[in-house]
This record gives sequence, C-alpha cells and structure tokens, in this order.
Amino acid sequence: MEWLLTPGPVQLHPKALEALSRPQLHHRTEPARALFLEARSLLKRAFGTEGEVLVLTGSGTLAMEALAQNLFAPGERVLVPVYGKFSERFYEIALAAGLRAERLDLPYGRVPRPEDVAQRGFQGLLLVHSETSTGALVDLPALARAFKEANPEGLVGADMVTSLLVREVALEAYGVDAAVSGSQKGLMCPPGLGFVALSPRALERLKPRGYYLDLARELKAQREGESAWTPAINLVGAVKAVLEAVMPHLEAHLALKAWQNALLYQVGEALGLRPVPEVKSPAVAAFYLPEGVPYGAVKEAFARRNAVIAGGQGPLKGRIFRLSLMGAYDRYEALGVAALFREALADILPAS
Ligand SMILES: *Cc1c(COP(=O)(O)O)cnc(C)c1O
Repeated sequence: MEWLLTPGPVQLHPKALEALSRPQLHHRTEPARALFLEARSLLKRAFGTEGEVLVLTGSGTLAMEALAQNLFAPGERVLVPVYGKFSERFYEIALAAGLRAERLDLPYGRVPRPEDVAQRGFQGLLLVHSETSTGALVDLPALARAFKEANPEGLVGADMVTSLLVREVALEAYGVDAAVSGSQKGLMCPPGLGFVALSPRALERLKPRGYYLDLARELKAQREGESAWTPAINLVGAVKAVLEAVMPHLEAHLALKAWQNALLYQVGEALGLRPVPEVKSPAVAAFYLPEGVPYGAVKEAFARRNAVIAGGQGPLKGRIFRLSLMGAYDRYEALGVAALFREALADILPAS
C-alpha cells in the first residue's frame, strides 16, 4: 500500500470508499434529498453552529471565495493577517472580491496575537485556523474577541479546512460568523466539495452576489435538500457516511488525531529536526530540512518506502517538509509511520 502522508488529499475513510461504490443517484429525487439534508445536518454539528452549512461543488478555495463574496460588499475594509500560504490566499481572494483588504504580514510559521487584530475601522477579519502550509494553529476565539471589541459590527470569517474533524471547532462559541472547509482533509473523503458554514448572525447579514457562488440562492435550494446546480451527490454520500461513523465518537477521534501528530513531532524532534510552527496544529507536522539536505532527498527517502510527503510552499519552498496523519489511520498505522519516518531519516542523516 501507499502511505499518503500529505496534508490533503488524505487516506480515504473506508466508509467513504463504500459509499462511493454505490449506483448513481439522481439529485432531484427523494433519496438524494434525504441524503443531502442528512449530510448538511451532520456538517452543522461538526462545525458547531446553529446556523447553516452549504455544500458547494468545488475545492476548499471555492468555499473561501464564496465566503468573501457573500459576507462582504465591494469596498468594505477587511483585515487579513498573512502567516502562511493559505492566509495569503485569503488576502488575494478578498482583493479579487473587490474588498479593501489590508494585509498584516507575519513571518511564515508565526501566529497573529489578539493585539495585532484589535484595530478599529474594519468590517471584517479573515483568518486561517490551521495554517497547513506552516503547521501553525491560531487562537481563533481570542482573535475574534479582540477584533470584535474594536469592531462590534464586524464579521469574522475563518478557514477551518484542516481543523474541521481534526481538532475542536465551534462557530458561535468561538465568535466566528462564517467558516469554510473541504472534503479532502479532516473529512477523509476525495477532493471535490467545499463547505461554507454560516452562523445565525452571518445569515442575517448575507450580501449575496455572483451567480454560481450566490449563497442566498443556494440556501433556498439546500433548505429543501437540493442544490441550485447539479451537486457532486456521490461525494455528499461519502461525507454523510464518514460523519455518521465519526460524529458519535468525535472526542476519541480528535484525541487520536492529536496523539498521532504529537507522535510525528516527537520522532522528528528526537532526530534533531526543528519544528516550523510557533503553535502546533494537530493537522500536520512541519520540520525545517536538516542542514545541507535538499527537499528532494527527503522526499526520495520516503518514496522508497512507498510514502508520499509534502514540501514547503511560498517562502518555505525548499526549506521544510511536512507529514500528516489527518487521513484514516489508526493508532497502530501511526506507529508504523513513525518507524518509517525514523528509517527514512536514517538514510539521510549522518550516523551519530
Ligand atoms: C487545503 C486547504 C485549502 C483549500 O485548498 P483546495 O486545494 O482549494 O481544496 C484552504 N485552506 C487550507 C488551510 C488548506 O489546508
């Protein structure tokens, strides 16, 4: 077997594979409507919102764009701390949506502080919860609180792409008004679906525009168990099947994911590798490359053992490597990956 150790797409959940092997459903039929409603209701629980979750056909980036276009009107001022490739993407999306986006640059791997976002005069704040490019986790509740003390009318949008089903999340409890995720990360499904979660406050404040990404139109259709356009209904079936399996044991699942990622860091640090993030997300373990070792050599050492890893992005390209056990791996598979990690690095590091 091949070990997919990339932070998305990930090793598929067996329930996803099983669901995907079923015959095609037509999306405007009763069984499909029931499935769609069930998936949305499970997603609402997973996001921790009393609002709504919309299922869009596209990747996580599409959901980020849908959030920016429907939560804010052109010309509105939004603050976007940039501390990795995905927060940088959020900034670019905000600009493309015609917002007056102001970036707040931090070195990749660092996380913003509450005082960084406690600036007046903004309609919105866009944050990436788990910055997959650096492995950093931000303190969403503290940042949302600081921003809203300065901007009581402001809305907070969060990218929860690699925190949903990987660590605890909750929209309203965190002071987050809207959040996004995708199917190919913590949900352990194939790529192809993006989710936009909207709190009750965000639902009241929607400023829909666009056509395919008009969330008011989607909301109307999805409340009835349909979607405005043909959905990737097979993937919706996979998402429903995985959530049905995971949600009753969510706490144990999150504890497993935390333990697995801590194990990767434990192994790497024992080998003398330096972690990239200031605060570690449980979604991915990111390490600086050993002195004088090119990324290609590390990638090759894993590839010889049938394992696929990820490198750095943006300014971290060629400087780091990343491993993730976000996919459907159990405790003992994770221990196997830890052994594989030690062996792979032994090929590279001089024997001490
Ligand atoms: C994977 C990811 C995305 C979305 O990427 P897509 O390739 O468009 O699915 C967005 N944000 C974060 C933090 C991610 O890890």
